[in-house]
Amino acid sequence: MRIGQGFDAHRFAAGRRLVLGGVSIDHPLGMAAHSDGDVVIHALCDALLGAAGLGDIGRHFPDTDPAWEGADSRKLLHHVCSLLAERSLAVVNVDLTVIAQQPKLAPHFAAMRANLAADLDVEQTRVNLKATTTEGMGFTGRAEGIAASAVVLLREQAHP
Ligand code: MG
Repeated sequence: MRIGQGFDAHRFAAGRRLVLGGVSIDHPLGMAAHSDGDVVIHALCDALLGAAGLGDIGRHFPDTDPAWEGADSRKLLHHVCSLLAERSLAVVNVDLTVIAQQPKLAPHFAAMRANLAADLDVEQTRVNLKATTTEGMGFTGRAEGIAASAVVLLREQAHP
């Protein structure tokens, strides 16, 4: 077994889409980022890379690389999953926490869970999403941005 954890945060910006867990959320502000700014997927990718001993998301998808400008973060996740598959690593479960004062995220969790389970090729029961505010404290509490943390467990599959 291998464990990994990841964390990401992005600032709110006008004129950007808000995409979390691959779901477009109707909100006046989106995330400032080189890619689509999906903090949930970025934290998840970092956790997966960490568990696999493969560094971090910045190493694999540098924000200076035009190939990832405005990128759908699910493409990043697919790439990370291919790196795991090459190493015979499979996801046991993932646990994700989104830290945001706004918007309300619970109504979007079913769609986010379905996306992530499909991308990770696991049953939805192996993907858990939680949301919390910080009760008005700090950058998330002031609604300056959204943060996400992820913990994942991988198992090493037996070679055929
Ligand atoms: Mg990020």
